[in-house]
Amino acid sequence: MNIHEYQGKQLLKQYGVAVPQGFVAFSPDQAVEAAEKLQSNVKVVKAQIHAGGRGKAGGVKIARTNEEVRAFANELLGKVLVTHQTGPQGKEVKRLLIEEGSDIEKEYYLGMVLDRSASRVAVIASSEGGMEIEQVAQETPDRIYRETIDPFIGLTPFQARRIAFNIGIPDKLVNKATKFMLGLYQVFVSKDCSIAEINPLVITKGGDVIALDAKLNFDDNALYRNKDILEFRDLDEEDEKEIEASKYGLNYIALEGNIGCMVNGAGLAMATMDIIKTFHGEPANFLDVGGGANKEKVEAAFKLIMSDPHVKGILVNIFGGIMKCDVIAEGIVAATEKIGLNIPLVVRLEGTNVDLGKEILHRSGLNITPASTMAEAAEKIVSLVDQAGGVAK
Ligand code: GDP
Ligand code: MN
Repeated sequence: MNIHEYQGKQLLKQYGVAVPQGFVAFSPDQAVEAAEKLQSNVKVVKAQIHAGGRGKAGGVKIARTNEEVRAFANELLGKVLVTHQTGPQGKEVKRLLIEEGSDIEKEYYLGMVLDRSASRVAVIASSEGGMEIEQVAQETPDRIYRETIDPFIGLTPFQARRIAFNIGIPDKLVNKATKFMLGLYQVFVSKDCSIAEINPLVITKGGDVIALDAKLNFDDNALYRNKDILEFRDLDEEDEKEIEASKYGLNYIALEGNIGCMVNGAGLAMATMDIIKTFHGEPANFLDVGGGANKEKVEAAFKLIMSDPHVKGILVNIFGGIMKCDVIAEGIVAATEKIGLNIPLVVRLEGTNVDLGKEILHRSGLNITPASTMAEAAEKIVSLVDQAGGVAK
């Protein structure tokens, strides 16, 4: 789960990581109110969306008066910001962070990320802050410094100092930078982050080491024990279909193609997507209904697939182990009774209660194309979608 920059900064502050003073604002009036509370003359008005690259896209404004703050707030609120991370459709700005301006001496990069191959947290740091780290990695890989953290010991002050020296933090600020990094690591571990990226981390002319930006991403599987993080969730920033799916505990990811998939088990779902592609089709989604789904869950899953206007055909591929084929069949019938079915549907059922499942589907009178192997199922749905006029790709 992603959170906004201002929320990330609140969290960092709790752990002793220095951040500029700032307040969130949902309207131009609130923006001015926030600006009045700030000590500094220069204020920064920052669009809050779950995407980076705001600076280059005009989402970060420097204001010298409160009237300028109001003007920038008016300009940004309601604007659709297109950055290199939002995709071409962009994201509408609904919140702003009004922050005290910082007198920047130099910008650095500091990121922590779970290195899955090493099963450890890796710290990535660079003297080249404020720009995309991917670009730095490609063009000047020697300017990236990396430390891997032993989970039993945690980030040590020694390692933090070594990072600071390697990216060229001035000697007299190394202690502050060390405190900063140890605090960030505490946030990362205590709150089950998957990414904590500070870009830029800046040193100011006044000799402070502060987080000018904060991008924190949390492991969804750990949210049950991080209720405070869950409070930060902003549904406006998430895909509607994915929100609906999470209500029913479905693992759903929207994709670009036009063949909807309903599958049980993540591995089978991946294999199903692969085989659709093998037959030159494109899946519209990844959907794992899970092992213990009931009729309501299956019904919700089917409706979810149908609600995507790009879907021109559906492939149901179920292996009934814990999941029973008759439950799947009942869910499909219940969903289509409510919303109809005017696109091709190929169903492949195998396993527990398979005959009962097939019987339920047969009795429903729905126009279903049965298949007995995965390859047959994929081939059939791709050709049915092709025939229906939609190119499968
Ligand atoms: P991003 O583009 O979405 O990553 O947004 P950032 O929060 O990183 O802001 C982009 C850039 O705006 C930073 O790299 C800074 O150069 C600049 N910026 C942000 N806040 C301030 C500030 O308080 N003072 C000054 N002078 N520049 C700022
Ligand atoms: Mn940034």
